[in-house]
Amino acid sequence: MDTALLIGSAFEAGQEAKEAILNPRTGGLILDVPEASTAQVDRALAAARLAFDSWSHSTPSERAAALLRIADRIEREAQEFAALEALNCGKPINAALNDEIPAVVDCFRFFAGAVRTQHGQVAGEYLAGHTSMIRRDPVGVVASIAPWNYPLMMMAWKLAPAVGGGNTVVFKPSEQTPLTALKLARILAEELPEGVVSIITGRGQTVGNYLINHPGVDMISLTGDVATGRKMLDAAAKTVKRTHLELGGKAPVLVFDDADIPAVVEGLRAFSFYNAGQDCTAACRVYAGRKVYENLVADLTAAAASITLADADDGLNEIGPLISQRQRDRVASFVNRARELSHVEVTTGGETMDQGFYYRPTVVAGARQEDEIVRREVFGPVVSVTPFSDADDVVGWANDSDYGLASSVWTRDVGRAMSTAARLRYGCTWINTHFMLVNEMPHGGLKQSGYGKDMSAYALEDYTVVRHVMVKH
Ligand code: NAD
Repeated sequence: MDTALLIGSAFEAGQEAKEAILNPRTGGLILDVPEASTAQVDRALAAARLAFDSWSHSTPSERAAALLRIADRIEREAQEFAALEALNCGKPINAALNDEIPAVVDCFRFFAGAVRTQHGQVAGEYLAGHTSMIRRDPVGVVASIAPWNYPLMMMAWKLAPAVGGGNTVVFKPSEQTPLTALKLARILAEELPEGVVSIITGRGQTVGNYLINHPGVDMISLTGDVATGRKMLDAAAKTVKRTHLELGGKAPVLVFDDADIPAVVEGLRAFSFYNAGQDCTAACRVYAGRKVYENLVADLTAAAASITLADADDGLNEIGPLISQRQRDRVASFVNRARELSHVEVTTGGETMDQGFYYRPTVVAGARQEDEIVRREVFGPVVSVTPFSDADDVVGWANDSDYGLASSVWTRDVGRAMSTAARLRYGCTWINTHFMLVNEMPHGGLKQSGYGKDMSAYALEDYTVVRHVMVKH
């Protein structure tokens, strides 16, 4: 297993404290990965600055070719990448191999195409005797910081548009899940010029904090917690760095009385519990019309209880454990506080398992809008269900959240679907589904879920700046 950092073109061991990387299925140690020293971060940033001069002037076709080569090599080593991700995160191997790796490969391929097909305003004479044109140029050196829930996919979402757009990047994976990033570093070092991407490891409060406050950084890109996002903004203020923030979510799911309830239940079984609910778009905050509420709770309870996890045959597992004991205990404490409320019933789950960091898929029925379990991001396999009687109430409740990332509406009435979607203040609204992402479409939030888009041509806009060039005739 690779534990060396990539700094410029050199692979070297981190010079600071070792971080224990644990297997979430067992709680056992996989190995230690030492974190980068400040001197190593300095050198990574210096290499990125040096590389920027030539990489920012490379042609779109050269950058696209590099992204395509990276995609091909990940695809060729799909089994190894998936096995490493499954080991480090506890993901079922089928999920890592069949869901995530193809999406990662497609992300690099999408941006390889997108970077060659950017459109802009026409050049013209807006002042007599002068011709104006618009350019789209890279921002500079990007400090890119990723979370632990989809380590390689978040890395792809961040690297492909940034590198495709002509930037250079110093990337820090989560201290809990660095293994696939360190493996990809070997490929990046061979397929990209020196310094275009460096990979450093370490904790947020040490290495991350040093990186984001560094004057050599032009832009900070974070996927992480809202509190971490605020720290990025503080750091950015000092030298007016650009920021791209994908923060948490608490997705509302509006199930109207005319919805196809078996389809809703089948959808929630997948979209609420995938990745053990450690997903910022997870369908975790269900509002159900009064007429369907009882049936929905009963069927969702049975469906959640039928999810396979912690089986010795990993091929059967549908979800894995939580990433850490800390995260599992955090999830458990949310559910324990909810079950103390007299109006709430935990209809299934609500308990840890005596192996690794597992938590059983959990349904919390009867929760009210003001309850913590409805308002705060749990980031675990836990769904709350709240009954509603009035369409205006439910749209108000759905929007009454600090978060604004993802939402869904379930109804057979097209008019209701469209009018409800128009009133929801979320970066994405799905109709009669949830959770589906494609590289052609943008992913990103409103409100405290952050701003800036991942995936799609909009991400390429975020990692480039518009410039005006004017020529006097
Ligand atoms: P986190 O904010 O704790 O950590 C994310 C990254 O930030 C890690 O690499 C961490 O080391 C780094 N970091 C932490 N403190 C830092 C600091 N002071 N300076 C610099 N870097 C710092 O988040 P997490 O626990 O890894 O991930 C879970 C969170 O991420 C959840 O809130 C989830 O909703 C969010 N998330 C959002 C999206 C999205 O697309 N909006 C996607 C995935 C995860």
